[in-house]
Amino acid sequence: QHSRYVTHKCHHCPPGRQQRLVLSRMFQPQNLREDQVLSLEGRAGELTCKSQRLMLQVGLILPASPGCYHLMPYTVRAMEKLVRVIDQEMQAIGGQKINMPSLSPAELWRATSRWDLMGKELLRLRDRHGKEYCLGPTHEEAVTALVASQKKLSYKQLPLLLYQVTRKFRDEPRPRFGLLRGREFYMKDMYTFDSSAEAAQETYGLVCDAYCSLFDRLGLRWLKARADVGSIGGTMSHEFQLPVDIGEDRLVVCPSCHFSANTEIRDLSQKICPDCQGPLTETKGIEVGHTFYLGTKYSSIFNAQFTNAHGDPLLAEMGCYGLGVTRILAAAIEVLSTEDCIRWPSLLAPYQVCLIPPKKGSKEEAATEIMEHLYDDITEAVVQLQGEVLLDDRTHLTIGNRLKDANKLGYPFVIIAGRRALEDPAHFEVWCQNTGEVVFLTKEGVMELL
Ligand code: ATP
Ligand code: MG
Ligand code: MG
Ligand code: MG
Repeated sequence: QHSRYVTHKCHHCPPGRQQRLVLSRMFQPQNLREDQVLSLEGRAGELTCKSQRLMLQVGLILPASPGCYHLMPYTVRAMEKLVRVIDQEMQAIGGQKINMPSLSPAELWRATSRWDLMGKELLRLRDRHGKEYCLGPTHEEAVTALVASQKKLSYKQLPLLLYQVTRKFRDEPRPRFGLLRGREFYMKDMYTFDSSAEAAQETYGLVCDAYCSLFDRLGLRWLKARADVGSIGGTMSHEFQLPVDIGEDRLVVCPSCHFSANTEIRDLSQKICPDCQGPLTETKGIEVGHTFYLGTKYSSIFNAQFTNAHGDPLLAEMGCYGLGVTRILAAAIEVLSTEDCIRWPSLLAPYQVCLIPPKKGSKEEAATEIMEHLYDDITEAVVQLQGEVLLDDRTHLTIGNRLKDANKLGYPFVIIAGRRALEDPAHFEVWCQNTGEVVFLTKEGVMELL
């Protein structure tokens, strides 16, 4: 005899039958109260923003140490989806994915003087032989040394666009806002190598366009602001910012010509747009991406060369491009959610559909089986929904209570088997979370909608 909802390999079911994903088996604490969340963070008063509070309340993240979080199953699913969209955008412009070690030898950083320049933000350590390392906060040094090691790079292989999605380490002075400012976080970092300054600027434009396309696909309102080059260096730089009040960056925006800049650079105290002389307005933003045109700053230090058409060696012209992967997840939740309910970009929702069967012992209990059939039929008929449908099998709870939880977690579609599920044909109550609509549909209607 097996349990009603199958999550294990079931020998009683016909082979090939989709295993049902059930909520009761999820390793994800549900519905913590605010005081419980606070005690999790371990430091009273440290709930610094909405996304952090919501993510802790529904168990998307659990604190491990200051600025470090465990990413729980739902979050990992959302992050994997985000990485897939990023991969599509990076590979569409010729990006090749690599993976460089986090342990980064000090001599690379001494070569660029950043061993000292980075100060306390660099997390340093020694191995058993006394050799010094840092845990990579970014990888300009590593990637330039890697490309320089390829002695026979030809102009025909350029532009070379290398990127990775890895953990980055920064000993932030004030880690806070949950995943928005961690000490250990995921970044997508791309490094480009070109044969001339003109070609490198063209590549710079391509990567920026890919970033615009990414944020559009996520349905997020973004700004591309002129920015400071900071400790990375170079001559041109832009930040991709999500405008929102809790943002730590101050931006100016021109409503008429769409000029935008971080107030860290230049004197904009006159509040006049340098492009069209119109009045500028101020806003705050969360920096989710940053692009730099580096020129030969790093290639000259590590001697990253290619041979041109005449066989002469020349220094590669470089660019570097970061996206805060975990920061984008939290920032999206920050800008899309209400005070009580998480909303995801549709592409990133950890599960697309949550099915809520009737409460055990209720008048509608007979609809349980109808719901299970709906589960099997949707996951069999709609390939894209395989692995995306979750059954909330906590049938000791009322439908209303489970609906509240589902609403908080932000599944794009929540489907309930209430009284009308017992009609012929059965009708399901479908909550479309992203539009706020509630509709009653037959099984065919549900399939069509999904
Ligand atoms: P910030 O100004 O917020 O400290 P940064 O300018 O130091 O960010 P970059 O060096 O430009 O960051 O890194 C590229 C991207 O990595 C940033 O645009 C951001 O999205 C992300 N990022 C940087 N620091 C963190 C952090 N502590 N936690 C999460 N994401 C981060
Ligand atoms: Mg920083
Ligand atoms: Mg910054
Ligand atoms: Mg930056």
